[in-house]
Amino acid sequence: MYKYIIMGIQGCGKGTQAKLLCDKYDFTHISIGDIFRWHIANHTKLAAKINRIISKGQMVGDDLVAKVVSERMSWHNWNYGFVLDGFPRNFAQAEFLFESYNINAVIHMDAPDSLVTERVMARRVCSQCGLDYNLIGHRPKVEGICDVCGGKLLQRSDDHPEAIQKRIEDYHAKTEPMLTFFRRINILHSVDATRSIPEVFEEIRKSLGLPAQPKAMNSNTLSTEALT
Ligand SMILES: [Zn+2]
Repeated sequence: MYKYIIMGIQGCGKGTQAKLLCDKYDFTHISIGDIFRWHIANHTKLAAKINRIISKGQMVGDDLVAKVVSERMSWHNWNYGFVLDGFPRNFAQAEFLFESYNINAVIHMDAPDSLVTERVMARRVCSQCGLDYNLIGHRPKVEGICDVCGGKLLQRSDDHPEAIQKRIEDYHAKTEPMLTFFRRINILHSVDATRSIPEVFEEIRKSLGLPAQPKAMNSNTLSTEALT
């Protein structure tokens, strides 16, 4: 069983790398952002709770996130393994996660604050269909207009310099202790996240010791391990 955590500041590209890993090796992508978006799209009780918190101008707390994650993890719906994206958020959660799930590796996407700030500032989202764009990597064909539906592209309301700075400071304050912990128990794999998507992916793959051809992996070790 392959149990991974992927970590990095917002804008480091961890969601993209998590998806690539899961597509290639048939792992289950457990994205906290996606889980929350699903709740909001489906108007669940939890979504109502989140909306109440946000409308008061507060942040969704670590405890609520932890509850949602444990619920999701209890499904155990992975055959070969999972990549957990967006969790843990603090040292206590990191410790809990490691003890409960026997995590094999933590992928740390290392990128300087200046780069992630630049990437986040370049993000745009379609106001109609919700498709994500990035003025650095994924530009629309016509400026300000969605390629798919013709909707207007907007910047998210929390993607302004002060908010980004706050998220970066938060991240550093909570992350450094987690990284120290993961390094000490020898499961930390830091990769240089400043390079291109395929280059970063290759570094992750090699660092984790995953085969270049996943087929070979699935027919041998993975299938027997999945039964245990
Ligand atoms: Zn659109």
